[in-house]
Amino acid sequence: MKVRLKQVNKSFQKGKNDSLNVLDNIDFNINEGEFVSLIGPSGCGKSTILKLIAGLDYPTSGEVLMNDKKIKGPGTDRVVVFQEGGLFPWMTVFENVTYGLLRKKMTKKEAEEKAMEGLKMVHLGNFIQSYPHELSGGMKQRVAIARALVMDPDVLLMDEPFAALDEQTRLVLHKELQSIWAETGKTILFITHNIREALTLSDRVLLMSTRPGAIKQEFTVQAARPRDPSDSNIVELERRVMHELEEEMEKVLKEEFGDDYTLAKSNIHDSDNSHMGSHI
Ligand code: ADP
Ligand code: MG
Repeated sequence: MKVRLKQVNKSFQKGKNDSLNVLDNIDFNINEGEFVSLIGPSGCGKSTILKLIAGLDYPTSGEVLMNDKKIKGPGTDRVVVFQEGGLFPWMTVFENVTYGLLRKKMTKKEAEEKAMEGLKMVHLGNFIQSYPHELSGGMKQRVAIARALVMDPDVLLMDEPFAALDEQTRLVLHKELQSIWAETGKTILFITHNIREALTLSDRVLLMSTRPGAIKQEFTVQAARPRDPSDSNIVELERRVMHELEEEMEKVLKEEFGDDYTLAKSNIHDSDNSHMGSHI
């Protein structure tokens, strides 16, 4: 399934006579089986784009299409994974993953087999009777990924799914997501504010400008897979993306701290994980 955003604008009503322009002429494709990331300063409209594709909201103008057909609402062909996995705390891991399948008019046996398959794919076969509160953050996100995968969507929409995890866990999940993607051939839109994460996982990275969000630049990642974050191709791209992002960040910081604010550039280049805190 191919996703296409065609000259999409989105504004939200703000009070009676005012509106907030959030997306400005967003126009891009995600090809079938492609892994695309969106990065950009916080508040630039990344989650809004994801919601438009999920069918949870509608553009003010322009079109959001799946295989050339206008998206009219949520559908089983698209599943979202959020930062906080959104598991039901009163259900076991197994029940969480089986839940959506049972609503699909599947027999209990089929649903359970599929759920088990999904949980094995994320290496949680031994935790099926655990409750979410008994799991680490990384395990919870694995359950969320399994729950999304078993629905067999065409497109997986991931909104900063690893943002709350520690660096080590995140690296492991990058490896797992890469092999899941290779195995299933899903089309993935991945939102993150971690540049290296975007470059490690994606075929293409779309960099957004500050609000109203526009696609500022597109980067194609050519490094071989499975990706090694220290690949020279990725390191070089990281420098370029960072450079572009600095301009956008400076705009955000000026809004927060006033016009005389300038970014101490050396600090950012020295940061070892390209994680820029709350500003991007
Ligand atoms: P990001 O995910 O890039 O951080 P969002 O897409 O969540 O940004 O939000 C972009 C802007 O739109 C923010 O200023 C946010 O406050 C605003 N916004 C998002 N959803 C709504 C809504 N339903 N109503 C009003 N404003 C919204
Ligand atoms: Mg967001």
